[in-house]
Amino acid sequence: MDLYRHPVFDMACHQFDLVADHLEIPTAFRDRLKYPKRALTVAIPIHRDDGSAEVFFGYRVQHHLTLGPTKGGVRYHPDVTVGEVAALAMWMSWKCALAGLPYGGAKGGVTCDPRKLSTKELERITRRYTQEIIPFIGPQVDIPAPDMGTNEQTMAWMMDTYSVHTGYSVPGVVTGKPVNLGGSLGRREATGRGVGYLINRSMDVLNMDPTKATAVVQGFGNVGGVTAHSLTRYGIKVTGISDFDGAIFNSKGIDIAALEQHVATTRSVKGFPGAEAISHAELLLLPCDILAPCALERQITADNAPHLKCRILAEGANGPTTPEADVILERRGDVFVIPDILCNAGGVVVSYFEWVQDLQSFFWTESEVTDKLFRILEGAFTQTLNLSRKRAISMRFAALSLGISRVFEAKKQRGLFP
Ligand code: NAD
Repeated sequence: MDLYRHPVFDMACHQFDLVADHLEIPTAFRDRLKYPKRALTVAIPIHRDDGSAEVFFGYRVQHHLTLGPTKGGVRYHPDVTVGEVAALAMWMSWKCALAGLPYGGAKGGVTCDPRKLSTKELERITRRYTQEIIPFIGPQVDIPAPDMGTNEQTMAWMMDTYSVHTGYSVPGVVTGKPVNLGGSLGRREATGRGVGYLINRSMDVLNMDPTKATAVVQGFGNVGGVTAHSLTRYGIKVTGISDFDGAIFNSKGIDIAALEQHVATTRSVKGFPGAEAISHAELLLLPCDILAPCALERQITADNAPHLKCRILAEGANGPTTPEADVILERRGDVFVIPDILCNAGGVVVSYFEWVQDLQSFFWTESEVTDKLFRILEGAFTQTLNLSRKRAISMRFAALSLGISRVFEAKKQRGLFP
């Protein structure tokens, strides 16, 4: 199937094939489990601020429909392709199944550089993209959410465009909205808060003392920023942080609140006075207890995996570790990996809570949200750890096995139509 050909989709398929062999999934089921159920490509013509017209391209991929509506973020990035979106949709499927959520995976994206677009241009892209995918989404069909390059404002425009089309407000069509429009308390913080919780939990398992630990975080957006905050709350010192423009280091610990203020005014961690500048490559190789890649795919590779100097690799981003690097880390045996589909599941768990609250028009307190979030993450973490120990397999293999086998069982139970 060449349609989805892309290094990230190949990577997701490779992981799936290994697990399918391990679970002895019959050949007849493999393509049904692997390939997206539906994929939509749309052209998005908009007026630029200078009056010219330009066409952008967008995608929405729904991976499987077996367990309920589909769910997944919308990414705005120059490298977005249908293959990358398909890989992210597949991972969403295994992630939702691992967490026990009643969803199939989906993902969307627009190939654009949000850093080079004005707010008005982003609004036009978002509204036109939403308009084009209206027949494809809905509270019972497919529910988008924020991902890289999108945020609460993007979701507000999507919800408004969909609601104008239907003639009444439909808050349940997207999650990650502003709280004022039916968003959930704790959704913005959910992914990073979950990453922090699972790091703390892993330190417990590994007998590590958080108050003596250091962490390095790649990416300072929604996931990386909240993860850094959350780690400091557990007493962990964050010594290295990067974003698209640069990387910084301070062996005494970076003041996260001061860094946030610096980013609010300069839009980058670069030039932060409370730390020294280092290169992106150096950041990943800093000696630390926890390395949390919270930006892009394919950051931990065969080149740098042998040289990582961390005890825990916490994958806040989706797909940050290549299969080649995975083999190296397994052989090394000294790095405890919290795999992406477990590590960053907090986002989709609280998106699920937001959807449930919207459908019921009955809203929860932030502590209710956080308590329920940690309970679900605790269950997924314990099941993954137990399976990993019982079968002597990696944490990634265990997490994928749990997710994939649940979707496989559901497909068997439902049978094949007609
Ligand atoms: P974001 O757009 O809010 O932030 C991305 C950050 O990564 C920015 O600070 C950006 O400057 C930085 N970055 C980009 N390229 C970089 C590079 N080459 N080196 C270092 N930093 C770089 O995006 P986000 O929502 O935080 O998403 C980050 C990752 O987490 C993605 O893989 C996404 O799929 C995943 N994720 C996000 C959520 C969510 O709820 N937002 C949930 C689950 C997983």
